[in-house]
Amino acid sequence: MSTRIVVVGGGTAGVRLAQRLPVTLLGEEPHAPYNRVLLADVLAGRYAPEVIALPAPQEPVRRGVRAVRIDRAARIVECEDGTAVGYDRLVLATGSNPVLPPLRGLRGSQLPAGVHPFRTLDDCMELRALVRPGIRAVVIGGGLLGVSAARALAALGAEVVLTQQGERLMERQLDTQASALLREHVESLGVEVHTECRVSGLRQEDGAVTAVELADGFVLDAQVVVLACGVRPRVGLARDAGLDVRRGIVVDDELRTSDPYIHAIGDCAEHDGQVYGLAGPALEQADALATVLTGAASAYTPGAGEPAGAARATSAGPGTPNGAFGAPGASSTSGTTGAPGTHGAPGAPGGDLPRPPVPAYTGTRALTRLTLGGPVSLDLASFGEATAQPGDDVVQLTDATRRAYRKVVVRGDRLVGGVLLGDLAAVGALARAWEGDEALPHAPLLHLLTHDGGS
Ligand SMILES: Cc1cc2nc3c(=O)[nH]c(=O)nc-3n(C[C@H](O)[C@H](O)[C@H](O)COP(=O)(O)OP(=O)(O)OC[C@H]3O[C@@H](n4cnc5c(N)ncnc54)[C@H](O)[C@@H]3O)c2cc1C
Repeated sequence: MSTRIVVVGGGTAGVRLAQRLPVTLLGEEPHAPYNRVLLADVLAGRYAPEVIALPAPQEPVRRGVRAVRIDRAARIVECEDGTAVGYDRLVLATGSNPVLPPLRGLRGSQLPAGVHPFRTLDDCMELRALVRPGIRAVVIGGGLLGVSAARALAALGAEVVLTQQGERLMERQLDTQASALLREHVESLGVEVHTECRVSGLRQEDGAVTAVELADGFVLDAQVVVLACGVRPRVGLARDAGLDVRRGIVVDDELRTSDPYIHAIGDCAEHDGQVYGLAGPALEQADALATVLTGAASAYTPGAGEPAGAARATSAGPGTPNGAFGAPGASSTSGTTGAPGTHGAPGAPGGDLPRPPVPAYTGTRALTRLTLGGPVSLDLASFGEATAQPGDDVVQLTDATRRAYRKVVVRGDRLVGGVLLGDLAAVGALARAWEGDEALPHAPLLHLLTHDGGS
């Protein structure tokens, strides 16, 4: 008999795990799993929804099924439709929720007509149905999501205003110069950009939005408003079950929560104090967990380390038919076995399971990439610290004619960050140096920006 793995959440992380292992995958969304990163292209009309479908998992997803409660003692997940699913190992891959800003006129989760977050395929399709040429749209939030939404709405012919509370666009990823170039590009698409601009309220009539109020007294007419004010890990299920939750669901180097039978991966997980909110780490965590669970499956013997009454977790040793999980593909995560014992689960059903000798997850060095389409498209990539600290070395190349900007920040002999805009030829070599975190070669630093490393 094989170990029953149940995954809650049919997004990037959950589906990746389900491609590697046979699992029961519960997903509340009604659609076939899709690549969220490409939603702006669906909104812009560049791709049909089916084009962004993720590769199918080994077992079909149970779509439209929301998990509402975890019974840790019985090891059962209860679903909104009244069904219950037993597990030996449970994986939470519940993603993030959009942050709804505290605005006058926006109370509770019931949004006025015309106001949408930008998180799901449904958000996207509802926006697409509303937007027609000349409609006035305001995007609140000038981060990666807001910039992507603004350019997609502009591509549909909307008159778009992008409001950003901070000093510049994509301030988490870009330095001042790169951000200024991005702003020029976004404006060239017809988007009006307002920075240091705080939205204070929404006006509505008959339940539909009519305008956006700014803190300085200005009012922007709006028939469509997109909320792109960041995301928050979706942790309700875990918190209600008594798992350790800080910003995200706390996991150790084996992606295990404070209950040894429950793991968490992707946007909802907090590893080593980090909540990533990016697709790359979600995929790496899924790959690492596939390896952990495969190791766990073959190392796991019924009864060993099990408490009385908890002998439902079954697996087989090597060589037993149907026992071990399918071997996972090459994991993109490297590292050493995680520190033992950091997540003993007082009161958890089970106590410690045997530890599999498997590689652990040690964190992801995430690189953000974005392509903003339009008559002339703009590529950008950023990683680590794009703004230098005193004492850092900085190498920077600007090509005003080609609207290209390249910069790296070096501390001692290590690459600590960089940003590329308009010309990503060096991104492969830089990403390797960044991900490897190795001492840089004794070559002039300019070499880092001019050598494309075959990428
Ligand atoms: C428009 C947009 C653009 C983005 N662009 C980029 C980008 O350029 N680069 C990048 O790295 N990242 C980007 N991201 C972020 C990236 O999509 C996420 O980091 C990634 O999807 C996280 O994967 P996940 O599986 O953790 O969560 P998700 O992909 O959000 O999947 C979670 C799934 O779990 C389901 N779920 C939640 N709770 C339950 C429950 N109780 N029962 C059943 N199902 C449940 C949700 O409905 C959802 O389908 C973007 C996100 C958006 C919205």
